[in-house]
Formats: sequence, C-alpha cells, structure tokens
Amino acid sequence: MLTLLIVEDEPAIRKMLRTSLTTKGYKIVEAKKGFDALDLIMSHNVDLVLLDWMLPDINGIDLIKKIRDASKPSNIPIVMLTAKSQEVDKVRALELGADDYLTKPIAFEELGARIKALIRRSHGLGTENSINIGGLSINPNRHLVETKNKQVELGVVEFKLLYFLMKNNGRYFDRQSLIDAIWGQLAEVDERTVDVNILRLRKALKHHNLDRLVKTKRGIGYGFSETNS
Ligand code: CA
Repeated sequence: MLTLLIVEDEPAIRKMLRTSLTTKGYKIVEAKKGFDALDLIMSHNVDLVLLDWMLPDINGIDLIKKIRDASKPSNIPIVMLTAKSQEVDKVRALELGADDYLTKPIAFEELGARIKALIRRSHGLGTENSINIGGLSINPNRHLVETKNKQVELGVVEFKLLYFLMKNNGRYFDRQSLIDAIWGQLAEVDERTVDVNILRLRKALKHHNLDRLVKTKRGIGYGFSETNS
C-alpha cells in the first residue's frame, strides 16, 4: 500500500484530505507542523507528500529544501497546497522542487488524479541514472542489465520490477504495492502474477549466480538487498 504524508495545520482540511485519500486506498500519515513532517519522512516509507504552504513553524520553501535533504529517495514527490492569493509563492515552490501544486479549496478528484500521475512518474523509467549494487548494474535509459560485462536477459516486466526494487534497495513491498508501481493502479493484475514475474527474474539472475539479491520476506513481500539476512 502506498503511503501519503499530509502536512497541514488546519484540522478540518487535514480530516477532509485523510477521508478522501483513505477511500482511494492510500495509507495516510499526518503532521500538523513542518518539523513533525521531517521526523515522519525519516521514520516512514513515504511515497508522496501533500504540503500546506502556510505552516506555523516553518515556511513551505524551507520545508521543501529540508525534505529534499532528509528523504530517501530524495526525489519523493511533493504536492503543494496553496491559497489562491499566493500565486507568486506557487511559482517559487515549483522552482525550488515541488512537483505540483493545487489551490484551495481542494478539488479532490483532481488531487487524486495528480497524485496517481506523480507516483507513476516517480516509480517510472524516466531519464534516470543507472544503479550498481552487489555486482549488478541496471541502466533504465538503455534498458540494459549487466554483470561483469555480461548482459542479463530480462523481459519488460522483469526489467521494471528489478529497476524498481534496486531503486528502493533494502525496502520490501507487498504484492499490491508492486502491482501499483509496475503495472499501474488501474491495472487488473492478479497478485499471483507478481510471484510469477519474481520467479522469472530470479531465474534470469540465477544464470549469473545473483538470484540471492532478490529477497522474499515472509508476511511482507519482496525486496532487493545484498545482505544475506
Ligand atoms: Ca495552514
């Protein structure tokens, strides 16, 4: 399940956001202040941040900077929520690293659609750098997986799966989260399909003695890790 962090000091708006987004299937964590938000980002796996511009303890611009420094991965999507009158600040927020903004009063259907698009983008295969872990190297732009100059042959889905897991090295995901990330939230994909694709991925890596990198955690799901735990 994907986790959204709501940072908003007004209880009524926070409650509306929580209600609306819970029914859309997200797990919600909440902060009333900016510094509480930073603590939550450090201690939780947050997939997206909804950020009110006017907070009691820190302004939006400074908070965006701090989130970018604190969060792993640092490209966690941030949606700013601003009042209509704050047009200029909105532009600054985007310049400084917010990914999107919405003016209050919030249109919840639009917010839902934008959240979906941002999460898809952040989990997607855009123009990102290659990753090297545990003797395995993946290059999303060239659609290439290599180990010691030998190419690892993978299907499209297994490639996306491996890239997503390597990008989130050390984190574990349940099957539904993987479906959301790899196939998209609107896809009708059976959880068994995830198992099948993980199996194929491991089989391909086994030719290079690297299947141990893809881990199963009982009761949680799958992840990528070089440690032997
Ligand atoms: Ca506020």
